[in-house]
Amino acid sequence: MLPRSTLPWLLLALAAAAAPAVAQRVPPATLTLDSTSAAALRRRQPRERPDTIRAFPTRKLGEGVYAVLGDTGRGSEGRSNAGFVVTKTGVVVIDALASPAQGKTLLRTIRTITPLPVQWLILTHHHPDHTFGAIVFKRAGAKIIAHPDRRTLASEDGDDAMVSAWTGVLGLREMQGFAFADTPDIPVAHDTTLTLGGREFVIDVPGTAHTAGDLVIWLPDARVLFAGDLLIEDGVAMVVDGSSGGLLAALDRVAALEPLQVMPGHGRIPANPMQLIQLTRCETLALRTKMRNDVQQGVSMSRALASLPPADRDRAVSRNSRVRRNAVRIFAEMEQELMHSSGELSAKKDSVAMLSCPR
Ligand SMILES: [Zn+2]
Repeated sequence: MLPRSTLPWLLLALAAAAAPAVAQRVPPATLTLDSTSAAALRRRQPRERPDTIRAFPTRKLGEGVYAVLGDTGRGSEGRSNAGFVVTKTGVVVIDALASPAQGKTLLRTIRTITPLPVQWLILTHHHPDHTFGAIVFKRAGAKIIAHPDRRTLASEDGDDAMVSAWTGVLGLREMQGFAFADTPDIPVAHDTTLTLGGREFVIDVPGTAHTAGDLVIWLPDARVLFAGDLLIEDGVAMVVDGSSGGLLAALDRVAALEPLQVMPGHGRIPANPMQLIQLTRCETLALRTKMRNDVQQGVSMSRALASLPPADRDRAVSRNSRVRRNAVRIFAEMEQELMHSSGELSAKKDSVAMLSCPR
């Protein structure tokens, strides 16, 4: 797992860049790893040491299709999920985890299932917790398949700053041997079907949803969907780097596939994929509706946020913290919407979609 309390600190630091100018800013003093309070340090949980773990747990999702299980019950705070598909000629890996050490353990995990070479790595998006292990696969000879748009608000201060912040969190030991490897050898910017090792991979490019560089991977023969961070086990997908309207549109696209199995970016594999898609849709719609009403009534952003549960201190991606950060983003989206003629149509669409959500 990712360090229980260190990852959120980093994300807090990254969130500084991600917060729109209008956002309620966390005072800069709390945004650096150096400024972490002694109390917070004491609360720190011991780190998982991926270099001492032989293999991560796996689950078979279909013929030759495996999920490599991250942490569960922790929303997006724990180690993320990854996956791999065994084809006739080699292995297709989906996401590379958060560091070279995690990447190596992922590779050892794959070796417990198949000796075939790792030929391709597909990245669902360009957040470090899904890509910083990519170098391991590149060095093993894999071709990288990803969206060419690597930009995230978190990397606005540059790649070097992001790496040093991430290293501060995971520790040098885990990051040893790091180099960026998320620039695609095979860029995918539009819906594309690739035949890899004789097996069909439909790569859906939903547009900006969780990030600008999202890819959704669909295996039509097994009806398995790798959703990246469009889906998180508790239904609160983050849109601070993306768009809530884009997320809803992306969810419609993945729901239309009627997957038998989905692998979310973080957390447990749902027993019923459609339920998790619907939960995510309803969480997003509810927050949009609340923010839209507040904007329409002239409520200030700080008052709109005051009516939500407080963010958890030192846990930038806890459920409450995610909801609040999404709310900031969505409030700004709703202000934009109100200024444009699209607002009425989008409100109407949301209220129709809301009819299928529990009240
Ligand atoms: Zn992400």
